[in-house]
Amino acid sequence: MPENDNRKDDNTTEYEKVCFICRRPESIAGKMIDLPNHICVCPDCMQKSFDAMNNGGFDYSQFMNMAGMPMMGFTDEENQVPKRQRIKKKKAQEEKPPALNIRDIPAPHKIKAQLDEYVVGQEHAKKAMSVAVYNHYKRVAADMMDEIEIEKSNMLMIGPTGSGKTYLVRTLARLLDVPLAITDATSLTEAGYIGDDIESVVSKLLAAADNDVEKAEQGIIFIDEIDKIAKKKSTSQRDVSGESVQQGMLKLLEGSEIEVPVGANSKNAMVPLTTINTKNILFICGGAFPDLDRIIKTRLAKNSSIGFGADLKDKFDHDKKILEKVTIEDLRTFGMIPEFLGRLPVVFTLQGLNEEMLVKILKEPKNAILKQYQKLLALDEVKLEFDDEALHSIAKKAIEKDTGARALRAIIEEFMLDIMYEIPKDDSIGQVTITGAYIEGTGGPIIRLRGQEVPMIESSGTY
Ligand code: ADP
Repeated sequence: MPENDNRKDDNTTEYEKVCFICRRPESIAGKMIDLPNHICVCPDCMQKSFDAMNNGGFDYSQFMNMAGMPMMGFTDEENQVPKRQRIKKKKAQEEKPPALNIRDIPAPHKIKAQLDEYVVGQEHAKKAMSVAVYNHYKRVAADMMDEIEIEKSNMLMIGPTGSGKTYLVRTLARLLDVPLAITDATSLTEAGYIGDDIESVVSKLLAAADNDVEKAEQGIIFIDEIDKIAKKKSTSQRDVSGESVQQGMLKLLEGSEIEVPVGANSKNAMVPLTTINTKNILFICGGAFPDLDRIIKTRLAKNSSIGFGADLKDKFDHDKKILEKVTIEDLRTFGMIPEFLGRLPVVFTLQGLNEEMLVKILKEPKNAILKQYQKLLALDEVKLEFDDEALHSIAKKAIEKDTGARALRAIIEEFMLDIMYEIPKDDSIGQVTITGAYIEGTGGPIIRLRGQEVPMIESSGTY
């Protein structure tokens, strides 16, 4: 073996060669021709070089010099074939053991129990999601075993902003240890128009999977604000960001082979491409669907017997759980096309967060905001506590902002700033209790010196 052949990456066969000129990988461009300095050129480019030479317009020696020149930003070892522009080879089908063994997939109740540790409330959503995920990965495993196809369990989540849609998906992906790509439907347009084309989400997923095609093919794609691509009511103009994006997403949701650039987010001549099959990618769409409640109420009222209509409409007006009654018909009225809805068979709703839930979010999840601050101050050996009034007061302020749990952190940060600034100044402080009055701006926190701390008593309402 030549001495310079013991480069780190050459030891493995996981990477495939990429043409130095056109950047296509070997699996697409054909067998590479090896040149000195670890340069590979595909047969097409080699042929073109010869053709150019024959036409007298090509200085071959110059070509060699250029190729031999070290590239900026890469070590000698990596030179000529930048790492981020190489892709992991797909392993041959026969020798591949199922990446997700059915025995490794936790049962739905276990998935939900894990979610419970992070996500407060939203019981129905957590349950629906656990079952769908369980079925999805069971389907992925079964797919490898026989030919009976189980339908994909792509999901559609409906819930107000800040109710935990993104958070649920993030938590789920982390627990399952699968790559996750999050994208916003508003940034997507039909291919060829300004904006990201629809397939760019798959290339985001590939990046999240560290360019490992096999891993990406079992990942999760979350498309937020899906309600923003509802069919436009007036169709005088071409609807490049609404209905046609829905149309464009159909084959992606169902499962198809997509060519995506590696290590970049746009296809161009300099970037190698690889193929990803979306058949086993779990798609989760989420949106707030404003006004959907009105559509549901109108339908319910219309369906009820004539004469009592007005009465019932009143009743529906006060129904807090009206969103749970959503049907595919309502979503169609909203502007989602039937083919699109057909590919999202699992539909569930999330509740808007009330004061009680917000208080729980502050203190209960494994990585709750209060726990984070308590840990920060504990590093200075200061005990941080919040009384019950303080927690409710923070929750009330968050409700006023109407952005769900998202407002909590901003509110806490605002008044914790002073605490975090002042406390480390004075070594004698041993305990700080944040009171409702402090949050309301009518009083200060209770400060106790070291040695005078009082133990936390649950019944007194401090946390
Ligand atoms: P959405 O996607 O529904 O608009 P997010 O998932 O982005 O809302 O929620 C914003 C933040 O609020 C999350 O990062 C999370 O910290 C917190 N959060 C929201 N809902 C919950 C919940 N049910 N349990 C725990 N934390 C939550």
